[in-house]
Amino acid sequence: MSVKVGIPRALLYYYYFPMWSGFFKALGAEVILSQNTTKGIVDKGVKQSVDDACLPVKLYFGHVLDLKDRVDYLFIPRMVSVERKEYICPKFLGLPDMIRHNIPDLPPIIDITVNMSRKQKNLFKAFAEAGRFFTSNPLAVRKAFYRGIEEQERFYRLNELGYLPHESIEQMNMGLVKQNFSPAQAGDMTVALVGHGYNIYDSYISMNLIEKLRSMGVSVVTPDNLTGTIIEEKSAELPKKMFWTLGKRMIGSAFHYMRSDQIDGIIHVASFGCGPDSFTGEIIERHLRRRKNLPFLNLTIDEHTGEAGIITRLEAYVDMIRWRRAAQ
Ligand code: SF4
Repeated sequence: MSVKVGIPRALLYYYYFPMWSGFFKALGAEVILSQNTTKGIVDKGVKQSVDDACLPVKLYFGHVLDLKDRVDYLFIPRMVSVERKEYICPKFLGLPDMIRHNIPDLPPIIDITVNMSRKQKNLFKAFAEAGRFFTSNPLAVRKAFYRGIEEQERFYRLNELGYLPHESIEQMNMGLVKQNFSPAQAGDMTVALVGHGYNIYDSYISMNLIEKLRSMGVSVVTPDNLTGTIIEEKSAELPKKMFWTLGKRMIGSAFHYMRSDQIDGIIHVASFGCGPDSFTGEIIERHLRRRKNLPFLNLTIDEHTGEAGIITRLEAYVDMIRWRRAAQ
């Protein structure tokens, strides 16, 4: 029977799951995901986590609780940096410790440290450490690492074709990919949804924002549909380098979309209690006002956000774009 590795369906799952899953599967492990987010998962996460954590971190606790009794290991990497001279939010750095100290009776945690701020090859070192949980054969670990990289590359290509990350993961898992499948882009207008992947693609926590927009005839694009090169080029327009990688992705993509003739508006989605989100939203709004008069909507979500309020704001926003277009 293969060893079961649990991966919480939260936080950086929406960015790196294909790499993680490809790596563990290549080492013969079975990858077990937590369920899609439910009210029960949110409630358990809120109860078990520290009070001042942001919503996505509280939610992560709920996903760990959902997994912990059905796996042999939990994969909770300590993510410090994924780009040279840049950092991820400090909450990711302390994640394995927060989980260990707040949730009892956990299976062993694979808590490799990913820190690429100085050297890219530190990524391999981190995965070599994870590989030791499964084999003493360094060649097998290296092969598994490259398998993971290949999967991640496939994921990026699908996102760039127009799929959203949760759709790309679904396509890859079903083995369908490539031809005869086009992303759901059928609307008469297009809105750029700019926010952390773990907020906008989790349908429970975002209150199904993407599907709601699509049902109103709006096509949705996000930072994940852009290449790394575009994000780098556009975010470099800031007078000072943004050293938070996720914030840089949001700002770079917003700068790109606000210049595009294909985009009718920008929605920024922020988490209540998130420091980085408060200034990325502000920067985007200021630049938008200066450069182009595109409709902008800032949505802040937390565990108490009501669905009716979100729907009303979305409907008003979409109607306003339609009237504006008609008037022009
Ligand atoms: S960037 Fe914001 S939402 Fe994300 S983990 Fe950090 S504080 Fe939470």
